[in-house]
Amino acid sequence: MAGTLIVFDFDKTIIDCDSDNWVFDHLGGTKRFDELLLTLPWNTSMDKIMGEFHEQGISIEKVKEILNTAPLSLHIISAIKSAYALGCELRIVSDANLFFIETILKHHGLLDYFSEINTNPSYVDNEGRLRISPCHNFTTSSHGCGLGTCPPNMCKGIVIERIKKSMLKEGKQRIIYLGDGKGDYCPSLKLSERDQMMPRRNYPVWDLICSKQHVLSAEIHGWADPEELERVLLRLINSNSTSVQLISTDATCHAAVPVTTHEPLPKVLNVTN
Ligand SMILES: [Mg+2]
Ligand SMILES: [Zn+2]
Repeated sequence: MAGTLIVFDFDKTIIDCDSDNWVFDHLGGTKRFDELLLTLPWNTSMDKIMGEFHEQGISIEKVKEILNTAPLSLHIISAIKSAYALGCELRIVSDANLFFIETILKHHGLLDYFSEINTNPSYVDNEGRLRISPCHNFTTSSHGCGLGTCPPNMCKGIVIERIKKSMLKEGKQRIIYLGDGKGDYCPSLKLSERDQMMPRRNYPVWDLICSKQHVLSAEIHGWADPEELERVLLRLINSNSTSVQLISTDATCHAAVPVTTHEPLPKVLNVTN
């Protein structure tokens, strides 16, 4: 499936938690983070709290140790390795940060399976403090997306538009996009009929797709947990865009099933729960 590009969100998609929450919760910073959020955007609050942890003597090694305990299912590891072995190109588009993502992927031996990680830049400075900056510097200008579901520091839709522009040159025919969050809605709108959107059922992106289904061109294939993610993803990879698709959806979201008219065989609606 050399023509397939798979784009993964990271938090609550590859790992089964939010990496930012995982770190500050385990370092006793939950309450402090909520305070910071009263006056600062999420991304800036994350940079600030990492600075405060550093001042308290919490080392970057300790942060790594915590990141390495973030839950990552064997089904996800298997899905990533199988997709790669089948010739797909794998990328990440995430509102976490590069240090967290690389640390976790390295720990599970997965980093080399990904050709690109689009996220908030971060690095460990000379003093051993993690610095996190926004993917888009919103203090000088807005990223310009008016959808209202993207945070000021990152519009994943803009990233997907850039990827789509370069796809033809690279001989890629379709994108399979997997995500759970509000920020994954904007990129889902940039996908075309030949692409496939895999929203996590009953998570924010799913609710948004269900409520605004008329604007999505891509096929929608829901998943609820890592086991189902693996199953659905491998089925999509092994199918091709002109064959009959089994549209997995939730009984409460019938409206999100795209109407396809080009298929030579009867459409099958597979309600999985
Ligand atoms: Mg997510
Ligand atoms: Zn956007």
